[in-house]
Amino acid sequence: MSRLEQSVHPGYHGGVKYELQTIPVWDAYEHEADCPLCYLEEKLEADYQKFFLGSAVMAPELRVEVNRIGFCSRHFCLLERGSNRLGLALMTQTHLAERRHRFEKARRSAERAAGNRKTRKIRAELDTLIEALSDEERSCMICNRLAADLANYAFTIVSLYRSNGDFADTFRSSHGFCLPHMRTTIGVAREVLRGEELAAWLSDLFSVQDAASGLLDEGLEEMVSRYDYRSTEPATDSIRAALPRAISKLVGRR
Ligand SMILES: [Zn+2]
Ligand SMILES: [Zn+2]
Repeated sequence: MSRLEQSVHPGYHGGVKYELQTIPVWDAYEHEADCPLCYLEEKLEADYQKFFLGSAVMAPELRVEVNRIGFCSRHFCLLERGSNRLGLALMTQTHLAERRHRFEKARRSAERAAGNRKTRKIRAELDTLIEALSDEERSCMICNRLAADLANYAFTIVSLYRSNGDFADTFRSSHGFCLPHMRTTIGVAREVLRGEELAAWLSDLFSVQDAASGLLDEGLEEMVSRYDYRSTEPATDSIRAALPRAISKLVGRR
């Protein structure tokens, strides 16, 4: 079964249905990544790149979804770097036609309002148009799927922490998360954990985050001193990696 199809032991929390995905989560922690969710997200994106450039996307219901939702800038770039330019061109063509159709309707309303020469009315129509265009920019089938997948992984992390002592120890010796994925995981933990459990998890989370930040800070310190013109020692690969690692900790994958 592929990672995209795995789904076991669903659970409902705060009206949201989550799925436990223990195998990929354990795998991510065994890799001791700076952020396990970034590690998993990278794998998922590679899977989605293959999926959306493969034959499955020709299924009518998926094609309708692609035409309607499309992809964000990051994920169009990801697909463009893939190996099916003809398939992507066909998908882009029908998606473009649907977007043009939607834009035409919004544009005609704005033009009608402009014809009345009433500033307030024109601005109101333009606000609607700006909002519609902003929604279109954010609209992305891969982002939507990644958000759901990462919520499931965060749910799995929190559930394993609660139910599996080995995992709780692994969590306590991990590097924590990047800040965007720390936010994702805190959002899930606040739904899933209660009282003492939630307090203990938060205390462990902040400890690992502090320890990881301290190490990154030391790495940056060392890098700065090696790059100083008075330094005679060369910068090693691990010293050069200090800056991208620190930035990824702050903003997630880039
Ligand atoms: Zn991350
Ligand atoms: Zn996207």
